Amino acid sequence: MKFGGSSVADITKIKNVANRVINKKKKYHRVVVVVSASGDTTDELIEQAHEITDMPDSRELDMLLATGEQISAALLAIAIKSRGYNAISLTGPQAGIYADGSYTKARITGIKPQKIVEELKKNKIVIVAGFQGINPYNDITTLGRGGSDLTAVALAAVLKADICEIYTDVDGIYNADPRVCPCAGKILKISYDEILEMAGAGAQVMQARSIEVAKKFNVKIEVKSSFLNKPGTIIS
Ligand code: ADP
Ligand code: ASP
Ligand code: MG
Repeated sequence: MKFGGSSVADITKIKNVANRVINKKKKYHRVVVVVSASGDTTDELIEQAHEITDMPDSRELDMLLATGEQISAALLAIAIKSRGYNAISLTGPQAGIYADGSYTKARITGIKPQKIVEELKKNKIVIVAGFQGINPYNDITTLGRGGSDLTAVALAAVLKADICEIYTDVDGIYNADPRVCPCAGKILKISYDEILEMAGAGAQVMQARSIEVAKKFNVKIEVKSSFLNKPGTIIS
């Protein structure tokens, strides 16, 4: 289950996400959750760095940006544990997500999910901070804007998840951005190539790179609402 920034935008929403995750855990034995930074946190952090200098150091920018996702992960773990369910939050590096040496838009080079698997065996809900990994210099890096989608898809691939659910502020993928075009129609099922084409044309609903990875490893994705209980769009 991946929850985007709008789904964890405030404490009430984080509590809503906790309920959704707990309900999923009641039905399925092993649940892994990926979270984004809340609301506009990432944009605000970038702005703060740019208030200091036009060209912030890219390593330090990644240190800064990675904090947004870590806040969401820890708050969600606190919310789930307060409801009596066992959970643990992990940074990208703790989750074993390895990335190349390019800051601010690193590529995932490999995943060693031992820690995730160990914690799942202890019956915990594992919450991973999206959008981040560790590079060969032991630095935290970020995976490009929208990179929590990539974290979710890559973890689903390596953990051989039944499905990668992307929870967001729309109830699926439409033939146009439903916020711009109210008469847009919802698509029930779409291929990797079709969604890649839409992403290439600017539809931000899924990060393009995450779809490339989903296609390569044949990860089934459902894009759905984090606020409404209804089927979303299947990407397969
Ligand atoms: P999240 O914060 O959950 O990652 P994003 O803002 O990245 O969410 O993506 C969801 C947004 O994508 C929606 O609010 C919607 O405005 C936009 N969007 C653009 N094109 C489409 C489309 N074709 N179908 C659905 N949503 C779209
Ligand atoms: N917080 C990051 C961003 O705003 C990653 C994500 O939301 O997927 O780009
Ligand atoms: Mg997104």
